[in-house]
This record gives sequence, structure tokens and C-alpha cells, in this order.
Amino acid sequence: MKRARVGNVEVVALVDCVEAYDANMVYPDAAEAIAPLRGYLDSEGRVALNFASFLLREGTRTILVDTGWGPEHHGLLPDELREAGVGLDEIDTVIFTHLHGDHTAWNLDRANGTPMFPRARYLVPRADWDHYSAEASASFVRDVAPLERLGVLDLIEGERVLTPSMTTLPTPGHTPGHTSVVITSAGERGFILGDVVFSEVDAALPDLLSTFDGDRELARRTRKAIVQRLVEDGSLVGASHIRAPGLGRFVRDGAGTRWDALA
Ligand SMILES: [Zn+2]
Repeated sequence: MKRARVGNVEVVALVDCVEAYDANMVYPDAAEAIAPLRGYLDSEGRVALNFASFLLREGTRTILVDTGWGPEHHGLLPDELREAGVGLDEIDTVIFTHLHGDHTAWNLDRANGTPMFPRARYLVPRADWDHYSAEASASFVRDVAPLERLGVLDLIEGERVLTPSMTTLPTPGHTPGHTSVVITSAGERGFILGDVVFSEVDAALPDLLSTFDGDRELARRTRKAIVQRLVEDGSLVGASHIRAPGLGRFVRDGAGTRWDALA
């Protein structure tokens, strides 16, 4: 758990779990490309991926972005929320950057099938709803489809105003409906990135194709454009999978870019 601010918006990074993946599995063309980036990998050539959610608080509003990888991965999101001093019933909005199972797993109380966040509307990008309901992936059937039956689901598309300071932005490629959240408050900027960038490796090498992107070419175009935008505007960035707790900024590094973690 780590707290930061963007103007009047409190941004809290919540770490559900951390798991290490072989870099060659995450980046199919990576063997040569990542050689200069060994510093980002552990001694076995693995990259530590964080599985984060972000809490955004402003005035009376409490918004949770993504709900983690859940009990099957020994997820700690409920404990992180408790440590942050936030009751499950204080969250008025849950929004998903996308519908992969590592972003949806604490949606429901598994014991009784009720919403984990009893007062929240759950906002789902429509293009992901269409894609994953047709595919009927296991995590969709378990975690997302019940939200419709429970009457707590709203489909969203385009740029949706969440609060006067927070708006969604479609960032497709990783999934068809992948969505980020833009924060603008009191002259400061923030950006909840989702999976536009996975790790410090592709923050430094945004051209790398990634195994986990549904449309790898579109994802690469989106990643390069968004990293460039965030370098230029200096946004505080919350990234789902970049080294825990996943808060920092993209900065220039010579002719390229790199991730600069929040101290
Ligand atoms: Zn993810």
C-alpha cells in the first residue's frame, strides 16, 4: 500500500500480489533486446510483476480501479484496503481497465456470491464485455457475468466523466476495450495506466511486443503514444504490473524513456 496525491485526488496503490515471470515468456522477441536491461531482471532472468489495484479518493467519492488476482493467487487486496482505512462499503465505483482475470478476481464474495463492494456500481468497458462474453472465459463467467445478473453493472465506452477530475480514456490493444483513467486536479495530472505498459523493461523499450497483448501491433502503437504523452505531461502514473507498488513517472533517458518509481 502506498499513498500519493494528484491535486485534490488521493491515489492509493494496493498490491494484491507479486509474481516473477521469465522475461522470455513475457517478451517473445526479447532475448537480444533485453540484454542491456538485465538490471531490471532477477538473477534467473525473471521480471517481477506486480498485480495492483488503485484507489482514487476525492471529496465524497471513492473509486477502485481493478480488483486484482484474488484468493487463488493469495491476493491481499482486502487487507490492503483495510490498511488504507477504507471499508468495502465506502467504494462507490469499481472500474475495470480490462477484463483479464488478474483484474477482476475480488469482484464477488466467493462465499455467498454477493458483490464484494456492496454499494458500488461496476463499470465495464463495452468492447471487453462483448469480446469476453462471446469467449466465455473462465474468469469472465466466474467474476464478471454475475455482475449483470446482480444489477450492479454499467457498460461504458469512449471518454466517460467519473468525477470533475477523472475521465476514462480508451487505450486499446492489450484488449479491445482496454481503458485508462486520466486525472486532472489543481494543475496536476495523473494517469491510471492498466496494462498499456507491463514492466520497467517495456517502459524503457516500448517497441517490444508483449505476449499478453491481444492485438500486439495496436498495443505497441498505444504504448508508444501513451508513454510519449506521459513523459511530456509529467503525470503521476499508476501501473498495474510495474514493480510494486506501481507508482511513478515516465521520464526521458537519453534518446529513450524509462520508469522512475516514486520514492
Ligand atoms: Zn494484467
